Amino acid sequence: MSKESSYDALVIGLGAMGSATLYHLAKAGIRVLGIDQFAPPHPHGSSHGETRITRLAIGEGERYTPFALRSHELWRDLETEHNTKLLFPVGGLVIGDNSRRGFFHNKPDFLGTTIAAAQKHGIRHDILSSQELRKRFPQFNVAPNESAYFEYEAGYLNPEECIRTQLHGAQKHGATIKTNQRVSGIRQTPLGTIEVITDEGTYSAEQIVVTAGPWIQKLFPDTFPALRVTRQTLHWFPTGRHHALFTPERCPVFIWSFSDREDGIYGFPAVDGPRGGIKLASERYESSVDPDHVDRIVPELATTTFFNDYIKDRMPHLSLPCIRHTTCLYTVTPNSDFVIGRLPHLPQCLAISACSGHGFKHSAAVGEAAAQVIAKGSSVLPLDAFPIPFHRPSTIT
Ligand SMILES: Cc1cc2nc3c(=O)[nH]c(=O)nc-3n(C[C@H](O)[C@H](O)[C@H](O)COP(=O)(O)OP(=O)(O)OC[C@H]3O[C@@H](n4cnc5c(N)ncnc54)[C@H](O)[C@@H]3O)c2cc1C
Repeated sequence: MSKESSYDALVIGLGAMGSATLYHLAKAGIRVLGIDQFAPPHPHGSSHGETRITRLAIGEGERYTPFALRSHELWRDLETEHNTKLLFPVGGLVIGDNSRRGFFHNKPDFLGTTIAAAQKHGIRHDILSSQELRKRFPQFNVAPNESAYFEYEAGYLNPEECIRTQLHGAQKHGATIKTNQRVSGIRQTPLGTIEVITDEGTYSAEQIVVTAGPWIQKLFPDTFPALRVTRQTLHWFPTGRHHALFTPERCPVFIWSFSDREDGIYGFPAVDGPRGGIKLASERYESSVDPDHVDRIVPELATTTFFNDYIKDRMPHLSLPCIRHTTCLYTVTPNSDFVIGRLPHLPQCLAISACSGHGFKHSAAVGEAAAQVIAKGSSVLPLDAFPIPFHRPSTIT
């Protein structure tokens, strides 16, 4: 194999996790190749839609908080190095029932876990009663039995710009990037290196990182049988004459976990001015989809039903008709945690997925840690909290 086709490390998939991993590998001086089946950032996987919530006290589990804290440092560094804006700290609310029964991301007591994480890690926040919340944030029509956590450093990231910046940075540090090439095979050679086969060529590397997001099951079907890919819909609603309430200066990002059912909504301020509307969504886990055959059409009835059932009474300043919508993919585990680890049957391969619908905010730090594992064998923030729980050996060829 020619020198041009063999690398120290190879990253398959250049979305949130892959672009961060590639960037940190290249920065560490590793000779690395990154491959993607599309040209990231793109709208086919899990990392598009202009905004992602970031928060430091993590309701999905306090063990995630160190990754969020480190990611904020890394986003700031990237902003400075590349003279761009990635992180918008507009503040963030987690609203829930006072009895703290509410679920979000399949996690019970989301509000309680958030508050406990903030207390443990000294994250600046306020606890707001229903009355205080209505006064400070009249956008939200909360019930008397609801209260909220407000985090000052929370906000949103621009996912497309984060990916673009990290890929650009990786190239500046010497990484090679191949886009519009789909990996169809991964195999171990008798020498112990890994060969990666695409529709345009074969590349070899000492180690690989697989950050294929919703497609990871296609690459390793027997290793990840319990993962599910679910279709999510994002809706942008008009702010109309109440626009002033929804500007980033006045409206934080928010997660609202309902107490009467295992459900909730999340949303963002109007980041695109009066015409852009505000982006809102709930989470849907009912059915699984094939990431290569996703129905991207959102029927008007789905948007109207979402507005009437979830939004109308809770955010009465908003209105129909929906300005636009898009679909996006969650790759979820049964307990909505991450899955990160070396494949037991292929230890030269580090897999990073699924991220169960809450991975973006952590992706900078996960990528940095993955690069440390590849370069040095271990990472400052340990990745072993998210082991691959199910494994039957197989490789694809
Ligand atoms: C609607 C929605 C809202 C979300 N909101 C938030 C939020 O507010 N905050 C938050 O922190 N997280 C959020 N998330 C989750 C977060 O966006 C994801 O966890 C994260 O983007 C996953 O990144 P990834 O790198 O695993 O996957 P992706 O970004 O999808 O990247 C996978 C890449 O692998 C490539 N690939 C796959 N297979 C192959 C192959 N065989 N050959 C070559 N390339 C391949 C794909 O083309 C793709 O580019 C949300 C997700 C969705 C869908």
